[in-house]
Amino acid sequence: MGKGTPSKGKKNKAASHKTCRRCGRHSYHRQKRFCSFCGFGKTAKLRQPGWRNRFPAFNGNKGFAR
Ligand SMILES: [Zn+2]
Repeated sequence: MGKGTPSKGKKNKAASHKTCRRCGRHSYHRQKRFCSFCGFGKTAKLRQPGWRNRFPAFNGNKGFAR
């Protein structure tokens, strides 16, 4: 699937993620029913970004926005 008209057909589908009621980020997956950021729905504890903060981000991110 490319960038053209065929792929635009999915644009009107419902959003896959909605606002997480634990971390407040827009990372709660509606179908999978868990938050990709904090792990809400999958784990009772907050998802720890373990190895992520052990090294400086190499993609230009200065930590998390929220
Ligand atoms: Zn969350």
